[in-house]
Amino acid sequence: MKLAVLTSGGDSAGMNAVVRAVVKTAIAKGCEAWVVREGYEGLVRGNAHETQEVKDARASKDEAGFVHNLRFGDGELLKDGTGDFISGRTMRGRYIVRVGWDDVRGWFGEGGTLIGTARSVTFRTTEGRQTAAHNMIKEGIDALVVCGGDGSLTGADVFRSEWPKHVEALRSQDKITEEQAKAHQHLRIVGLVGSIDNDMAMTDMTIGAPTALHRICEAIDNINSTAYSHSRAFVLEVMGRHCGWLALMAGVSSGADFIFIPENPPEADNWEDRMCSAIQSHREIGQRKTIVIVAEGALDSALKPICADHVKDVLANRLGLDTRVTTLGHTQRGGVPCAYDRIMPTLQGIEAVEALLESTPETPSYMIGVRENKIHRVPLMEAVAKTREVATAIAAKDFARAMSLRDPEFAEALEGFYTTSVFEKEPKLPHHLRMRVGIMHVGAPAGGMNAATRTAVRYCLRQGHKPFAIHNGFLGLLDDNVHQLSWLGVDTWMTRGGSELGTNRKLPDIDMGAVAAKFQQYNFHALLMIGGFEAFNALLLLDNARPHYPAFQIPMVHLPATISNNVPVTEFSLGSDTSLNALVSACDALKQSASASRNRVFVVETQGGKCGYIATMGALATGAVIVYTPERGIDLDMLRRDVKFLKRRYNLDQKGKAEGRLVLRNECSSDVYTTDFIKKMFREEGGSLFDSRAAQLGHTLQGGIPSPMDRTRAVRLSLKSMAFMEKHHQELLRQSPRARQASYESAAVITIQGSTVKWVPVQEMVAHADMQNRRGKDAPWEKYQDLVEQLVARPQLLQRD
Ligand code: ATP
Repeated sequence: MKLAVLTSGGDSAGMNAVVRAVVKTAIAKGCEAWVVREGYEGLVRGNAHETQEVKDARASKDEAGFVHNLRFGDGELLKDGTGDFISGRTMRGRYIVRVGWDDVRGWFGEGGTLIGTARSVTFRTTEGRQTAAHNMIKEGIDALVVCGGDGSLTGADVFRSEWPKHVEALRSQDKITEEQAKAHQHLRIVGLVGSIDNDMAMTDMTIGAPTALHRICEAIDNINSTAYSHSRAFVLEVMGRHCGWLALMAGVSSGADFIFIPENPPEADNWEDRMCSAIQSHREIGQRKTIVIVAEGALDSALKPICADHVKDVLANRLGLDTRVTTLGHTQRGGVPCAYDRIMPTLQGIEAVEALLESTPETPSYMIGVRENKIHRVPLMEAVAKTREVATAIAAKDFARAMSLRDPEFAEALEGFYTTSVFEKEPKLPHHLRMRVGIMHVGAPAGGMNAATRTAVRYCLRQGHKPFAIHNGFLGLLDDNVHQLSWLGVDTWMTRGGSELGTNRKLPDIDMGAVAAKFQQYNFHALLMIGGFEAFNALLLLDNARPHYPAFQIPMVHLPATISNNVPVTEFSLGSDTSLNALVSACDALKQSASASRNRVFVVETQGGKCGYIATMGALATGAVIVYTPERGIDLDMLRRDVKFLKRRYNLDQKGKAEGRLVLRNECSSDVYTTDFIKKMFREEGGSLFDSRAAQLGHTLQGGIPSPMDRTRAVRLSLKSMAFMEKHHQELLRQSPRARQASYESAAVITIQGSTVKWVPVQEMVAHADMQNRRGKDAPWEKYQDLVEQLVARPQLLQRD
């Protein structure tokens, strides 16, 4: 099959990762990979002429197959023959271009789309699409991966449904031969949603939205300090014409004071009063800065646009605040893709090729979406229709419907925003239902721990509970290092890395009786432990001790937070996304250095304890060529194959064009084959082909400022944890005070499994835990190690004689 990929509509980070994955997967599956430059416009313009070099390249490719393709890539030849196909400036009229394996090397780290995108007026016409069909058939292509917004995907579907008509017309005009008409009766299409707005229905995340959120949060984090210094108010306008996802998530993850989004417009006649009253109450309790986020398409309930300048005037005139407006504009689109926008588009690109290969004239066109980090296929036009319904519902002032058309997480996030950002003077719960909640960090610091704590504190205060910080874990508890937390005291914690409470690895069995006595002394009604494997272990010990100590007959929750992501059952722990992003930026820098030296292999050691999650996902996100994990270990045969692979790979590089390459090794992969050993071995074996260096990322992987994803996840999971403890506390209150028995379910871990958040009683977690190696027995991410190898053509290279 000849398969082409194009990017269309507005550019977004992650589009290059899609193209890279589609090209590599297509080639690996024996297809010819093509790219279409400048979106649909390129399809319409087609290829004006073909140079002799290109003809030669095609001829030689047909004989040489995969390996030849891997070695030179038509793109490389095209570069020599017709100019730089990436910039497009010197392509001399060629828009549909065959590419080889190495043409897409290193595309990960680039923002935007290297093959260009456009909004094509001509493609909107039937004649334009017929010309596009003709151009494709001339090249023998009838399978297309389209990465763009809802407009682009609609265009794809229209094109597919009309295709047989175009083929018939082209044949009748004698523009194509009978054989061509027969060979290309149907067009296969798969769509991927590239859009920074996260505005597509039936997928949790569009390609580029997480990176745009990163850019917005970076900007707000920078503005925070100046806003605080001058006690100013800032009104930020962010992108999102019909979708408030960016504004909402930025509001949640930056701890903004107020947000305006199109799906949930404020009352037309009093929104200014409501906003001023909320901000005034924050100022009254001592807040020095004010952040208001306005989505580009924000409206009031009468559909009157709410613009940033008006919000500024209201704040300045009514509250007398020194207020500035910042419009982030196109900075949100640009920059280096975050880890998520490298990993997910890669997985989606691979799935797109598989969907194309499986498609028949009868199957619908699919869109490759994401549901809680799992890739899935959905009927493309159903997703487009649902997406359009949001704009229709807003225009009809049916805002409840607009909200319901977004995924459930959207509504939860909005609720979370109001719970954590808006100060309420009157607590919600009556006195007898209020709790004294202990909050503790256990284990190593991880991004999002403080955000989860802030959320829990704000929830407590809103409900009327008393939140207590237990500083420095169980040791701190025994030293009476316990303090009540306030609304303002946790204000800046959303963006703080590390652990504001202080944390260590000590478990309650240092003195279980004394720990129980302290629980009694502080009269805790609930305990929230935020941490990694130790927190799970601590919860298990406390639950086991319940029969002996009545003080533990309270709801107790473990919220997983660890960069290693080694807590059993849950697929994600807070901190792992921050850590992956820290790894990606460190590896980008190392790869640049390695590439500058042309032929250098960097052996990069990662943290992670006995869990290879960070190393494996990091390898997927950075395009590392080899990854070593504790789960698979390292042995001599493996090292021998790795050296053989590297030699073959460097032998294939063109002279003077050799690349720097990364090898990721988890710190506990082997006691004998250490990072230093591997570095020296590669250097020795590489000879004149390649050199090697080592780098230990160590504690840098705990990251600085937590990633937006870890912050929003922290808010979501922390709110659920608080509601869970409230529910179980109320159940206990129904029992006789003298003999309260907390239920088996009330000592639990909050986990993310597939598409849902699930509570798992700590005793049930044990069956899934490898206590000795401090990790889960199952590692669902382990399969990605094979993917890392596929994406560097390792199986093919090792098979060669
Ligand atoms: P973004 O979300 O960034 O705006 P988009 O894909 O929705 O991306 P559009 O400008 O709507 O951006 O669409 C991109 C291109 O897709 C258009 O320029 C046009 O060539 C094609 N297209 C859109 N809608 C149709 C349609 N109904 N029929 C044919 N082609 C279309």
